[in-house]
Parts: sequence; C-alpha cells; structure tokens
Amino acid sequence: MEIEVDYLIVGAGAVGLAFADTIIAESDCTIAIVDRNGQPGGHWNDAYDFVRLHQPSEFYGVNTVPLGSGQKDQEGSNKGYYELASGAEVLSYFDQVVHQHLLPTGRVHYFPMTEYEGGGRLKSLLSGETVTVKVHRKTVDATYYGTTVPSKHTPSFSVADGQTLVPPNALSELLQDGTNNWDRYCVLGGGKTAMDVGVWLLEAGANADDVSWVKPRDAWLLNRKHVQPGSEFFHDTIGMQVKQLEALAGASSVEELFLRMEHSGQMLRIDADHTPSMYHCATASNVEVGLLRQIDDVIRMGHVQSIEASGLSMTEGHRAMPANTLYIDCTASAVQRRPAVPIFQSDLIVPQMVRTCQPTFSAAMTAHIELTVDNRDKANELCTVLPLPDMAEDFLPLTLADMVNQYQWMRNADIRRWLLGSRLDGFSNVIAAVEAHEDDKISVLSQYRENTLPAIGNIQNLMAKANAS
Ligand SMILES: Cc1cc2nc3c(=O)[nH]c(=O)nc-3n(C[C@H](O)[C@H](O)[C@H](O)COP(=O)(O)OP(=O)(O)OC[C@H]3O[C@@H](n4cnc5c(N)ncnc54)[C@H](O)[C@@H]3O)c2cc1C
Repeated sequence: MEIEVDYLIVGAGAVGLAFADTIIAESDCTIAIVDRNGQPGGHWNDAYDFVRLHQPSEFYGVNTVPLGSGQKDQEGSNKGYYELASGAEVLSYFDQVVHQHLLPTGRVHYFPMTEYEGGGRLKSLLSGETVTVKVHRKTVDATYYGTTVPSKHTPSFSVADGQTLVPPNALSELLQDGTNNWDRYCVLGGGKTAMDVGVWLLEAGANADDVSWVKPRDAWLLNRKHVQPGSEFFHDTIGMQVKQLEALAGASSVEELFLRMEHSGQMLRIDADHTPSMYHCATASNVEVGLLRQIDDVIRMGHVQSIEASGLSMTEGHRAMPANTLYIDCTASAVQRRPAVPIFQSDLIVPQMVRTCQPTFSAAMTAHIELTVDNRDKANELCTVLPLPDMAEDFLPLTLADMVNQYQWMRNADIRRWLLGSRLDGFSNVIAAVEAHEDDKISVLSQYRENTLPAIGNIQNLMAKANAS
C-alpha cells in the first residue's frame, strides 16, 4: 500500500502530537503519524502508576486542546499550585487528542504498532505488512529525545540471586502482596524519579528511618511556586525572572549563581550540606523537598556496581544493607543527551527544545515556524536549539539560547501574535495583561528590560571562564 501526505511524523509521544496539532490547526496539510506503541503518549505508556507531571498541566500537551481542569490543588504536596496531571490523565488526554481531535479532521493517518524503517517505509508489528509513505513536505523525527523510563531500561549494574530490584512500576502491587516485610527500602538514583518514589513511599506510610537513598549526585530543583500560569502569580513568575536576571548579571561563578537563585527562592536543594552539581530542570515544591529531607540515610558513594547479599558494591566502596532490602531502580536517564542537530534540514525536521524545559511548547513553535517561514536558514535562526542540561554549569548556555530565541521571537510580529494565542506559552499573556495603572508590575517589567543585557554579558563571561578552567 502507498499513501501520500505532507508530513510523516515518527513518534506519537508528546512531541510528535504537539507538532501534529499545530500543523493541523494552522494549515490544510495532511499527516501520517507512526508509532511502535499501541497507544498514543510515548513514554507515558510505560510510566509508574503514581507518576505526575512535575510542571502544571497548563504548560503541557498540544496547543489547541487544554489538559486538565485549570484548578489549583487544595491539599497535598502541590497545595496552592495548579494541578499536575497524573500519568493516567496524560495518556487519556493524548488518546483524546488523536481520536477526537486529529483523526476526525480526515487529514491524519495514524499507524500504531508500526515500526518506522526509514525511507518512508512503515511496517506493521502485527501483520508485517508494509506501507510506503510518499512525503510531499518533510519527515519529522519526533523520537530524538529517546526517553527511557525505569520499566524499559536495563540497569548498568548486576543483581545477585536472592536480591530484589524492581522498577517503580512494580512497587504498589509488590507491597500490596504483603508476604514480605521488607527491612528496608533502598531508592537508587538521584533524579526526579527517585524523588517521586521517595515522596510516594513516605506519603504512602513508609517510615523515613526505613528508607535509604543512593544519590550519586545532588540536584538543583526549580521551585514550582515560580512555574505557575496566570496573572495571580505575576510576581512569582515574571518577578522571579527579574531576580534570575539579576543573579545572572551579578554572579562571579556558577556556584554563586545557584546560591543567589536559592537565596531568592527560585532554586531548591534537598540537602543544605551538599552543593548540587546536577541540574535537569526537575521541578518540586517546598513540601516535597521537606518530605525528602526526612530521609537521613543518603548514600553518597558513587554509582552502584552490584547489589549483593551483603549490600551495595559501589564505585567508592561497599555499603552493608539488611539482607531483606527492597531495591527500587530509578537509574534510567529519562532523556538521551545527544548532540544538538539543526531542527530544519532539507527534508527532515528534528524537533528539539527551543524554550527551556518546555518540550511540547517547543514542538508547537517549531511546527508554526515550519508553516510560516520559507527560508530554512531563517527558520533555524528562529529556533536555536537549547542544550539539554545535565550539570549546573549547563544552566548558562541553556539560558543564553533561551534568551536569544525569545529576543528573535519578540522582533517578529507574527510570532508575537502566535505566542499571545498559545496555550502552552505560560507568560506572554500574563505580561500582555498588565494594565497601565499596575505600577508594581510595570516596575517589574522595566527591571526585566534593564537587567537583560547585563545578564547576557555576564553569562558569556561565565561561560568563557568555565571553558577556560
Ligand atoms: C516522569 C516524567 C515526567 C515529565 N514531566 C514533564 C512535565 O511536567 N512537563 C514537561 O514539559 N515535560 C515533562 N516530561 C518530559 C516530556 O514528557 C517528555 O520527556 C518529552 O516530551 C519527550 O517526549 P517525546 O515525545 O519526545 O518522546 P517519547 O515519549 O519517547 O515518544 C517517542 C515515541 O517514538 C516512538 N518511536 C521511536 N522510534 C520509533 C520507530 N522507529 N518507529 C516507530 N515509533 C518509534 C516511541 O515508541 C515513542 O512512543 C516528563 C518526562 C518524564 C519521563
């Protein structure tokens, strides 16, 4: 069989669907979407049952379909902040996006359980039948981030017979079983999944003294208070961006920069005695951080090499553990850190981050630019790729590229208009809604403008300093 479409999108995850939604909403183009999963939603299909977005639902999903009910949580560790969709909600949302929004347009072909083999060839994983797609415009590689979750990855360490290592997905079922009274729960990994597991264990009733946490690195966390939509959070969001610019303009090192951002409340860390070296845009609330601080047994002895009957063999020594320890694997690295490539290539589009830590906004913006900017160099210029941060110092190039993109977009009337109408752009509307009599907000906006150039200048100094050392 052969079909003809304007765009062939490989990957029906968040990125592929956000791209597809904007193409369908803003043009009369046709699309084929292929994914080896049986359901839309990419990595969310494999997530643990207690997973949630770590940023508000308002900033996630596709541009034209709201996610969630726009409510603030009334209780729990996200109290007072806008809702965080659960994994189940995210999956249901993407299912609706495909089946109630994209497919009914008659301009979308969706091929689940189908492998993309390259060269426009799709192969059904069930029947083996192939479909050839003739692509009039571009193929879109929405698989670039190669997201991996614990249930799908192979740990890099060995596990001795008789020891139990499970991904977070297996936890609730295993613990309901109740046949084993675990002496200890040992969470492996320093990232957001490990934090989710720690919070879940404690909220589900585990005693903090029964939890150990293997943390090869400590992480800086974004305070969710400052990542909220809407004018009521103006001073927490735009006001905090001014404080960030001041910190960027004034810091003499990356360490000082993060300390300043911590002092202003933008960044959080779990352990005040350890300076984090990692920054992955993980977002948390003060309440979550407070819960995680209850875990005293934090094991900082490098990476796990093997789990043995006697305990953990680690790169920096051996750590004895009770024989009946339940090890929880949170060591999957979520996204692959691959080198950035140009987003717009001759017959290929590779969506990557064009705004800091906003993958779906970035995909929607990329699709809009694809539809409206003919010249490939110009399109790439408008979409500087933001590097995926790993180390704290990566905050500098990330923020610089973010500012470059924002500057370019503000100079383009069409993009300015698009941003104002974009559900996924949390802040343009908030700024546009400021009224002439709101002196406090106007003052924040003028401080923003005043601090931008000094911040850019000092980011470049700090980057040069970091490169020289
Ligand atoms: C636990 C967790 C929480 C997160 N929370 C947030 C949040 O709050 N806010 C936020 O903005 N982001 C969040 N993210 C990040 C975000 O959800 C995704 O990581 C990001 O959007 C990447 O999605 P994706 O579509 O690129 O990748 P994926 O979800 O991995 O989708 C890629 C798809 O491509 C398919 N595929 C790959 N190769 C082929 C092939 N050859 N043939 C057919 N199909 C193929 C795969 O089956 C997969 O379905 C979170 C991530 C995780 C892991």
